[in-house]
Amino acid sequence: MLAKKGIQITQLYPSLVSIETIYDYSNLSGISIKNVSVRANIDGKKYLTSGDMLFTQKGLSGPAIIDMSSYIVKFQDLKTDTSSNHKNLTYKGKNLEISIDFMPDISKNQLEDIIFDSSKKALKTKLSAYLPERMLKFLFEKYEDKDINNIKKEEKEKLLNILKNYKIAIKNFSNIKSAIVTKGGVSLNQISPSTIQFKNIQNLYFAGECLDIDALTGGYNLQIAFSTVYLAGNNAKL
Ligand SMILES: Cc1cc2nc3c(=O)[nH]c(=O)nc-3n(C[C@H](O)[C@H](O)[C@H](O)COP(=O)(O)OP(=O)(O)OC[C@H]3O[C@@H](n4cnc5c(N)ncnc54)[C@H](O)[C@@H]3O)c2cc1C
Repeated sequence: MLAKKGIQITQLYPSLVSIETIYDYSNLSGISIKNVSVRANIDGKKYLTSGDMLFTQKGLSGPAIIDMSSYIVKFQDLKTDTSSNHKNLTYKGKNLEISIDFMPDISKNQLEDIIFDSSKKALKTKLSAYLPERMLKFLFEKYEDKDINNIKKEEKEKLLNILKNYKIAIKNFSNIKSAIVTKGGVSLNQISPSTIQFKNIQNLYFAGECLDIDALTGGYNLQIAFSTVYLAGNNAKL
């Protein structure tokens, strides 16, 4: 409706959403991992988030993942189903990749000492204090019967990277119905920042999520809504 009135609306994306993965992780569904780091390197820019993550039926969720969605969702090609009034925005898959450090508080050298400690203990026993057993079983299935102290240097590096640089290809992002916030909205260059009034139409104010402002999790989106509506309320002339 606003676009038809000549009001500029930027591209809309669902933000703070779960990620659907190409690989089927449904066997791990329900496993939650505390305090991971998530990285993405896209078009020469680096993004980093941290916090807990969760495996779901379709892929990944949890604070570290949904925060990352806020940075990278815009790199997907948008396919808009205009017949349904913007209720069914979906994405066609430009494949993106994230990398997960399951143990960001432990350096690669420290991890090397933990894993290759020359004891005969199983890998999953050595790491049992750090990750859930089901997760370790999944990650290190192919090493179950191997004497890991006698593997080649490159193989050791691969093994460390499973924990420090685990790559996951993205298939899609959850749709706008399940998004915590919408990225995009009424373009800010048409809004006076001190009054939040639309510059070209007197007494027209936009506040909250319909503006092209959004943030990571942590209360910032509510703060945006409260602050902008406060300005609109104070400046509106009745
Ligand atoms: C599950 C969930 C969890 C969230 N958690 C957090 C959080 O922890 N911290 C945080 O900062 N943010 C969080 N958010 C985001 C935050 O809630 C929103 O950014 C914020 O509420 C936006 O405020 P708003 O007033 O702009 O929009 P809304 O809160 O969406 O309010 C818009 C209102 O307009 C009404 N409306 C819509 N169309 C019409 C119409 N045609 N006529 C009349 N009324 C209409 C709607 O019913 C609604 O009440 C969360 C969002 C979700 C969905």
